Amino acid sequence: MEHELAHVDAARCSGCGRCVAACALRLFAFETHNWKKTSVMQDAERCSGCGDCVAKCPIDASAK
Ligand code: SF4
Ligand code: SF4
Repeated sequence: MEHELAHVDAARCSGCGRCVAACALRLFAFETHNWKKTSVMQDAERCSGCGDCVAKCPIDASAK
């Protein structure tokens, strides 16, 4: 069965790191572009679709 993969809306992400800490599979990492830090999905293929990262994001930048 197909599941929805998490992704980050870089335009909205504040770089707070909650999703990075929430993912048990450690699929997120930080990237910095033009002095703005954001969370970036590193390995979407491994995402289980559990939703933990989405639940932690305070601005709904991490979504499924
Ligand atoms: S949905 Fe779950 S497995 Fe996928 S990135 Fe978020 S916390 Fe990790
Ligand atoms: S929890 Fe949301 S705002 Fe915070 S780093 Fe993750 S995607 Fe960005």
